[in-house]
Amino acid sequence: MISRRKRYRFPEAQRITGVIILWTFLSLVGCSSVFQQVKTSLGLNPEQGLEMALTRTPAQWEEAKARAAAVDPKVTKGMKLNRDPALNKRLQTMVDRLRAVSHASQIPFRVKIIESEQINAFNTGGELVYVYTGLINDVKSDDELAGILAHEMGHGIGAHLQREQRSMFLPSIGAALTSIALQNKNADQVIGLVNQAASSGYSRRHEREADILAVVYTYRAGYNPLSFEDFFQRIRKRADQVKQKKEKGLRKNYVAYQQTAQNLERKKKDFAISNSNLQKHPHSRQARNQFQRTRVNLQKGKKEHDRQYMRYQESYQSYAQAVSQLFPIFQSHPADPERVDIITSTYQYLKGEIPLAQTPSSVQYIMPVVEKIGR
Ligand SMILES: [Zn+2]
Repeated sequence: MISRRKRYRFPEAQRITGVIILWTFLSLVGCSSVFQQVKTSLGLNPEQGLEMALTRTPAQWEEAKARAAAVDPKVTKGMKLNRDPALNKRLQTMVDRLRAVSHASQIPFRVKIIESEQINAFNTGGELVYVYTGLINDVKSDDELAGILAHEMGHGIGAHLQREQRSMFLPSIGAALTSIALQNKNADQVIGLVNQAASSGYSRRHEREADILAVVYTYRAGYNPLSFEDFFQRIRKRADQVKQKKEKGLRKNYVAYQQTAQNLERKKKDFAISNSNLQKHPHSRQARNQFQRTRVNLQKGKKEHDRQYMRYQESYQSYAQAVSQLFPIFQSHPADPERVDIITSTYQYLKGEIPLAQTPSSVQYIMPVVEKIGR
């Protein structure tokens, strides 16, 4: 994913992205040589990187778990965990079912349910899978939920965080968005910055790996592997609508704000003229009246300008809030034109309906590794 298209246009975006990457880098500095190994191999040979990830030893997994445990307080800071036994049991049972047929059946994957309206789920590289109640409330079936869980487990099992040396540490998005200052920026620049700040997820290659692993695991566990995509398309459609609406509001408020800025300039000029006129004709009643009128107008103009700036700022905050809620799931799962094809053909291949040669190239390089290792 990671679109770099706007990176060089806005220095501030660079700074924000830099902060996110730096944070991530710092958080990974403590990582094991195992991950270095996995990561190094990726550069030359992605298949080998995947194979190394899928065949990690118990000791290597312990390191991943230690890292996840270290990140956990940051992830859950200020968050309320859902303690409903029935809900926790329902999700944990699903995770156990998927784990049993995964490449990490020995790893006790654990679900943590976070109370939040956000539609979000992620894994921090170890055995912890975080799911937000907003997502749970939104899924239409266990098949959809299983696909999401399997995909997140796929990121963990594929060691994507370690192999990319980048984090999808989600709470940082909100902070990055908050730090975007509106001053001297038009609506489109702001929208560019927001998109930049929000894009820090996994690479497309690793998304595809996670998708393919999710299809394999859900298929093996007896869930419908295609439901994940149903969920995704539904949510994306809704997210796009919300985002477009908010962007429209932001642009509209910016135009209105610009209008008040122009009005203010005109009023400043009028005031300057009447002021100098009054200096020249200090005893003219007309000059004094005009001076007072333009002064009142100038004050009104300033107020209107400030008010409209507030409105622009408010619409930005509302937009940023929407994006930070919508993006967690989309930042790591950006639109991939091949996604449906990859998921569908992996499923068809597993069912024996098509040969591997008829699947997209990403399936052709991932599936042989998956099959070689088996479970
Ligand atoms: Zn993903």
